[in-house]
Amino acid sequence: MAAAMAAGFLPPALALAVMMATGVLSPEWGFIAIIAGALAGGLSATAIANSINGRAERIEALSAALRAHRQPLHVIPDDSDAMGRAERSLLQSTDAVIAEIGALTEQRDELEAILRSMTEAVVVTGARGEVVLLNGQARKTFALSADANYQGRDFVELCRDPRLQEFVASSTASANGEITAVEVRIQNPSPRYLAVSAAPVKRGSASEIAWLFVFHDITQLKTYETMRADFIANLTHEIRTPLSALYGYAETLQQGVEDPETAKRFLGIIEKQAKRLARLVDDLLSLSNLERGLAQLKLEEIAPRSILEDAAELMREQAERGGVHLEIDSPADLPPIRVDRDKMHQVFLNLIDNAIKYTPRGGRIRLHARLGNHSGGSPAPTIEMIVADNGEGIPASDIPRLTERFYRVDRARSRELGGTGLGLAIVKHIVQLHHGAMGIESRVGEGTTVTVSLPVTAA
Ligand code: ADP
Repeated sequence: MAAAMAAGFLPPALALAVMMATGVLSPEWGFIAIIAGALAGGLSATAIANSINGRAERIEALSAALRAHRQPLHVIPDDSDAMGRAERSLLQSTDAVIAEIGALTEQRDELEAILRSMTEAVVVTGARGEVVLLNGQARKTFALSADANYQGRDFVELCRDPRLQEFVASSTASANGEITAVEVRIQNPSPRYLAVSAAPVKRGSASEIAWLFVFHDITQLKTYETMRADFIANLTHEIRTPLSALYGYAETLQQGVEDPETAKRFLGIIEKQAKRLARLVDDLLSLSNLERGLAQLKLEEIAPRSILEDAAELMREQAERGGVHLEIDSPADLPPIRVDRDKMHQVFLNLIDNAIKYTPRGGRIRLHARLGNHSGGSPAPTIEMIVADNGEGIPASDIPRLTERFYRVDRARSRELGGTGLGLAIVKHIVQLHHGAMGIESRVGEGTTVTVSLPVTAA
């Protein structure tokens, strides 16, 4: 500031001194003029310096706001001169940059939220396969640490399965930039089916290519596909056997069978196979309605004993024919259960039918109802309805699969006895519809006990 003052003050002071020396101006007036000039110069220099300081502070504040990515303080500059206009333009540019940063941050947060919530594993790599980004699901799929930084790591090394490594390596090596998609069955880190796609994306400058890998877990879908294929294969087999018997015996009868006894036997076989087909269709319809949720329950309060009595009455004749003793052991004062009478009937007819089929002559079947043991933390009391036989029993390894459609311990034997292999699958569905549970205990040579537990106040 001193230099500015000197620069502004010295030239007029020199001129006044010359005028005083040459007598153009009297010395008194000369001194007065010099002092007045010095004062005025000092005041205007101070004003200029203050204005420069103010502007410097405002520019400094703008720079600080930019560094901190926050909105600058809006001090409106005086834009009557060039500096003021430049300052205003800088303020507007700062506003625009901050708004842009805000929008980009919002976009980034949105993208991160989308990536986080995706059920697919997403990995972005650079042109040589180095990791740029991977989402949480990718960390889970490849059994990576939840918080480690994998940026820059070779993605091929991170995906441990050789078939995946091959796919990733060949995608990043391909120069044609096409989207590729395959289904891969991996063993590592756990056995899964993945639908994988690799798409080239432009990154930064136009020449820079990155790769977007998306891994969709289709294990469940594949399981359903296999189940459906197995079901169709089983069904075809189940239908073909009685159909070919029907066709064969009908054809033989058509050609003429002389012996009336033989003809009668053939007709008996035809009737038996037709009944079997009808049973199969009925069971399939029941199961399909249950599985598709079409079975509406007509709930009513029923005493457990009466359910067992009704079923036993219907099965008694069959039991007698099979030489099996059927007995009921159920207190009459048990609380009622809210169930669909017809569906419960279906459950116990199926269970008693099985017990009769797989219990040799002279055996016993006991139908029993009791209050369930709910001391194990379950607050709702249950009624346990039990069908126990002392028949041939079931090998332990078969028990977990008995409720699968068409699963039988001895396929030929079940068919011979008129079974469809769907009975226990239907029973399980009906019990589940009533919010109950079914348990099977069995020992080969000792017998089988099936327990159906139903909540006393079922829905
Ligand atoms: P199925 O029509 O063959 O009886 P289910 O679904 O009712 O079909 O039963 C499946 C299989 O479970 C039967 O084939 C049989 O091997 C076995 N099983 C069911 N109940 C009994 C039982 N009480 N004793 C022995 N085996 C049984």
